[in-house]
Amino acid sequence: MKRYSVFAIAKEALNYHMGWEKAWASPAPKKEYDAIIVGAGGHGLATAYYLGKNHGITNVAIIEKGWLGGGNTGRNTTIIRSNYLQDSSAAIYEKARSLYETMSQDLNYNVMFSPRGLLMLAQTHHEIRGYQRTAHANALQGVATEWIGPAKVKELVPIINIDGPRYPVLGALYQARGGTARHDAVAWGYARACSAMGMDIIQQCEVKGVKTEGGVVKGVETSKGYIGCKKLGIVVAGHSGQLADMAGFRLPVEAVALQALVSEPIKPCMDVVVMANTVHGYMSQSDKGEMVIGGGTDGFNNFTQRGSFHHIEETLRALIETFPIISRLKMLRQWGGIVDMTGDRSPIISKTPVGNCFINCGWGTGGFKAIPGSGWAMADLVAKGEPGPLAADFNMWRFKEGQFIDESVAAGVAH
Ligand SMILES: Cc1cc2nc3c(=O)[nH]c(=O)nc-3n(C[C@H](O)[C@H](O)[C@H](O)COP(=O)(O)OP(=O)(O)OC[C@H]3O[C@@H](n4cnc5c(N)ncnc54)[C@H](O)[C@@H]3O)c2cc1C
Repeated sequence: MKRYSVFAIAKEALNYHMGWEKAWASPAPKKEYDAIIVGAGGHGLATAYYLGKNHGITNVAIIEKGWLGGGNTGRNTTIIRSNYLQDSSAAIYEKARSLYETMSQDLNYNVMFSPRGLLMLAQTHHEIRGYQRTAHANALQGVATEWIGPAKVKELVPIINIDGPRYPVLGALYQARGGTARHDAVAWGYARACSAMGMDIIQQCEVKGVKTEGGVVKGVETSKGYIGCKKLGIVVAGHSGQLADMAGFRLPVEAVALQALVSEPIKPCMDVVVMANTVHGYMSQSDKGEMVIGGGTDGFNNFTQRGSFHHIEETLRALIETFPIISRLKMLRQWGGIVDMTGDRSPIISKTPVGNCFINCGWGTGGFKAIPGSGWAMADLVAKGEPGPLAADFNMWRFKEGQFIDESVAAGVAH
């Protein structure tokens, strides 16, 4: 595959840009693969990429029922951070954040990683205690975060109102190397790299059944026919329950819609990401100038990928005291994604009761930031059949055994 570079752009400019190759191939499925990954979201594509890059396994198909990156990966608010509380979470999220630092060079694809800084506001005394505790935990884990006071918050976010009558800003947990990346580019960059390694990305192909023999996976029934495999990785976020059902086991995961919206574009006014978890809203400014705003999950299980009017009102009402500027903005677009929530708000990267069948899910409202770390850990699991150190604690049996990785403060509300 031709490398993207300044020289390639100059050469193509002389050729009216007629010489660019397609970023990835769209082949018909083969009869059998060493590994099939179901789901061409960020986590599925990253799993395939690290299977090839770290383990030399390239006879791989990534099967997607829609278009690649069209699930939650292309619908999120792109926040990247690693300021979690528990050691196992900090390890995998910080691995992911550090891989984002070099992802554009690694994939030869500009994912527009922007470590602009991220603040989680404390607007109650309870939150001050919670975030100071997280800052101490992060210091022990080697994750660079700090507790900052309201004056520093105001300096970093001039448009913020720190003296709100209901919820004044009392400080924040600050991660200077947290930020955002372009979500579609992450999916496209991984897809291009997978295709370049000879892997097959098969879109518009729904997995409808999982074939097992003697408790071991043999292949998948799809809308394009049966495809055999030696190993199967299920990486389908909000549809994990359905895929697990096809394979014959149950998962402790529920699916709900999570919504977000963007405003009309305005001049640059906020160059950090701000999360206000007590009032439940968060905001950043896109490169186009839109204010990207996210809120909470719907309070009931559903599979809709649309927005709803009450959500616009609830989210803006929550943020308006802290950001009075948004009262005068028109909201342009809203949408939803189907997120996969576990009880302890931590993911599952696990073997399953079915031999050679592995699952990666439960990233809920916060898995965009985890994509490279999750793919790295899942590839390890699929290749070796046993979890490596990054994935070991995230097995699906922890809910039975009571070994929760409780991230309800870091991930229950925040994304
Ligand atoms: C509104 C919103 C805001 C968010 N904000 C953030 C944020 O700021 N930061 C953050 O870190 N995270 C955020 N998230 C969460 C994040 O987007 C997800 O955790 C992450 O994208 C999950 O990636 P994935 O690859 O697991 O899933 P997806 O991207 O959903 O990919 C799964 C794929 O599986 C496919 N699939 C499903 N069933 C089948 C089948 N039967 N056969 C074949 N293919 C199938 C789907 O079509 C889909 O493309 C947000 C999510 C939403 C919805």
